[in-house]
Amino acid sequence: MSRRRYKIEWDYSKPLEYVKCELCGADDPELVTIEDSFRIVECKSCGLIYLNPRPREEDLTDFYENFFSTEEESVSQWARLMGRVYKETKRNIEKKYPSGRILDMGCGLGLFLRLWDPKKWKLFGIDISKRAVEYAKSKGLNVRQGSLDATDFSDNHFDVVTMFYVLEHLPHPLKVLKEVRRILKEDGLLVIRVPQSISAERFLRFFGVRRSLFHPPMHLYDFSPRILREFLLLAGFKRIKTVIGKPTSPERRMDRFWTNYFNLWAQGIYFLTAKRVLVPGVGKTTYAQI
Ligand SMILES: [Zn+2]
Repeated sequence: MSRRRYKIEWDYSKPLEYVKCELCGADDPELVTIEDSFRIVECKSCGLIYLNPRPREEDLTDFYENFFSTEEESVSQWARLMGRVYKETKRNIEKKYPSGRILDMGCGLGLFLRLWDPKKWKLFGIDISKRAVEYAKSKGLNVRQGSLDATDFSDNHFDVVTMFYVLEHLPHPLKVLKEVRRILKEDGLLVIRVPQSISAERFLRFFGVRRSLFHPPMHLYDFSPRILREFLLLAGFKRIKTVIGKPTSPERRMDRFWTNYFNLWAQGIYFLTAKRVLVPGVGKTTYAQI
């Protein structure tokens, strides 16, 4: 991901903290790789891949305050990066939900919410970044700044909650998923996009290509569909499916070419195996219901 979209960079002098596995609570990690001096480990008990040690929560909160650049060029870079993913997700949601209340958790600049018709939908956004929330508000969106693990929304409030590339940034993803479970209606829908970078790295290494895709220290976790499913089950979701989805569109032409080429190939495998095989690293979306 191009660093130009970020206003600020991580301060490497900040202290780090050692954590146990967020999914199973075990303290039995095995080193997977070191990227940018950060250790990425895998829990030997459940298979969760996480950053350990990692930045303290308060330092991350400070960091994300001013994380987004709101210059026009950066905003349109985000819009291009996420455009296909947003439109595809919107189409899929609209197939089942013609109107209602939608919350984009970790809404950033509010670019996803701006695609919806406010006459049919009541649109809400929440994000930890003050700068991003101010920008979204300036575009007329109903967006608030706050922590995602304890919102002030009432129980059973939303028809749809979306989380685009948010969960991997959160110190306590289970807590946030439980909060989503609380504010989602009984027949509501949760939509999640997360990267799966370590298995993509392993996959590429098999072909002799070495790439660092994890992005520490901003990304704290790596979610395979199995691990994400475990988290969702623990949070109280029952009907969970992960399907292939459009890839993001990286800024650099060469990155975009490889992303499209790889996804086209992975899509072929997916359909040839009757939707059974999702190649690691392919663009995919998880839909969960209670
Ligand atoms: Zn574990």
